[in-house]
Amino acid sequence: MRYIYALDKDLKKQWASHKERIFKLGGFTVHLASDITPEDLQTFSYSFEKIILAIQHSPVKNFKKVLKGHVYVGTKDDLCKWQGCKVPPFSNGMYSQKFKVVDYFTDGLRTSEAWVVLIHEFAHKFHVEEVPNGLRNQGILDLYEELKEGLLCYDKAELPKLGDPLSKYTKPQTYRGLLGTGKELYLTEIDGVPGEGAEYHFSNDLVGVIKEEKSLIQSLHCPSMYAYHNHAEWFAEMVTMITLEELPPKDYTQASKLLKLLNS
Ligand SMILES: [Zn+2]
Repeated sequence: MRYIYALDKDLKKQWASHKERIFKLGGFTVHLASDITPEDLQTFSYSFEKIILAIQHSPVKNFKKVLKGHVYVGTKDDLCKWQGCKVPPFSNGMYSQKFKVVDYFTDGLRTSEAWVVLIHEFAHKFHVEEVPNGLRNQGILDLYEELKEGLLCYDKAELPKLGDPLSKYTKPQTYRGLLGTGKELYLTEIDGVPGEGAEYHFSNDLVGVIKEEKSLIQSLHCPSMYAYHNHAEWFAEMVTMITLEELPPKDYTQASKLLKLLNS
């Protein structure tokens, strides 16, 4: 057991009461909170290997610059107590802009695809720490403004038919991160009249989800509302999809514009 060495004064103070273990992993310094189990560590190491590989091979050339710095592994409660964060219950990770660290939550969703969420968090780190001018990069802000209006396009959607897979109507990272059961969900029931606000039931033999028509159409043609309202979230969603090479064809144009900006 060792005490943390300083990232900055604030962090040192807040973490001072935490005894923890530290080890090097590639360019990273990994901090393990005291309450993590050997199983947690194994899951983390396995996920992290996949994250590093994906980022190293990303078409966003400079994304690999984020593969350094500090990563904290622990429960949401433990890590958020000192970072002062509020995280949604399903979250598997977080990037703290204040401390410039990435958190990996051991009590996030335990699905085989949970690691995808961490790529999104590293995309925030990339935006803040490695893109010139960070969140205020004018090229990215301009591109977001240019694309924003065109991205809200409810009425052009083609409504799903019985038997259609849910992955077609959900951003891959959302689908894989949040519903990662390893099994595709299919449209098994439509409740109401399509085009007039029906509900769509997707299921497999393990789980099911109900999607409202508006959100379904939106995810088919538009970014998530989250991304629509916040350019940093749009950026992180795009970088994640580009990295995983899971872009829906409708996003090819905006992705190539973003790539041109980031790779120039
Ligand atoms: Zn985000």
